[in-house]
Amino acid sequence: MNTVRDNVDAAEVAKFDALASRWWDPDGEFRALHEINPLRLDWIRQHVQLSAAKVVDIGCGGGILAESMAVAGATVTGIDMAEGPLTVARLHQHESAAEVDYRQATAEELAADEAATYDVVTCLEMLEHVPDPSQVIKSCAELVKPGGHVFFSTINRNPKSFAFAIVGAEYILKLLPAGTHDYEKFIRPSELESWARHAGLTLRSSIGMLYNPLSKEYSLGENLDVNYLMYFRRD
Ligand code: SAH
Repeated sequence: MNTVRDNVDAAEVAKFDALASRWWDPDGEFRALHEINPLRLDWIRQHVQLSAAKVVDIGCGGGILAESMAVAGATVTGIDMAEGPLTVARLHQHESAAEVDYRQATAEELAADEAATYDVVTCLEMLEHVPDPSQVIKSCAELVKPGGHVFFSTINRNPKSFAFAIVGAEYILKLLPAGTHDYEKFIRPSELESWARHAGLTLRSSIGMLYNPLSKEYSLGENLDVNYLMYFRRD
C-alpha cells in the first residue's frame, strides 16, 4: 500500500453506492443490517460505556450503527468511501435524533490525521470488502487511544460459511443481494486475531451472529463458524 487511499476496491464501493437510496428501507437490501443492529449495539454496550465516548465508525455506510451509537450518547464520526451512502446518512440524521459527523475517508487516511484520538473504534461488516483488511485493522489500532476499545465483525471462511453466508443467505433465503460477498475475502477468527495482535490489540471477547431460518430471527451465540464479532483493547 503506497498511499492512504490505495486500500479501496472501487467495484465494492460502487456496489454500495448503487444501493444507497435503499439503505434505510427496513425491508430492502439492507434489511439484515437493520435486524442485527440492536444485537450488535447491545454487545458493544456490554463492553463499553457509549455515553460521552468519542467513537469512530469505519465503513459506516448509511449510518445504521453510527446513528444508534449517537442516540446512545456517543460523539460519533462515521467514515466511508462511498459517496451515496454518506449522502443518505447525512439526510437521515435530520429525521432522527442522531447527530453524526460523516466524512468520506479511508481508515488509513483518518489514522494519519487523528492517531490515538478515539475511545472506541467500530468496523463492522466492512473488512471483507477491502483489498487488505490487515491494513484497516492496523489503522483502527492507531485511531484508538491506548487502553481504548475496538470492535470488528466479519464472516468466517470455511465450507459451512460458504454454504450459509453465500448459498443460503444470498441465493436460497435471499437475505442479502446476490453478489454481496466474495468467499475468498472471508476472514477466519484466527487471522483477524493475529492481524490485530500485530497491530497492538488484545482480544477480549468474541461472539457469533446466528440466523435461524425457521423463526427468521438473528441471535448472538458461541458459534463463530459463519458471522462473528470480536472485541479488542489497545495495549
Ligand atoms: N458498517 C456498516 C455498513 C456495512 S456495508 C454496517 O455494518 O451497518 C460495508 C461498507 O463499507 C459500505 O458502506 C462500503 O462503502 C464501505 N467500504 C468498503 N470499502 C471501504 C474502504 N476501503 N474504506 C471505507 N469504507 C469502505
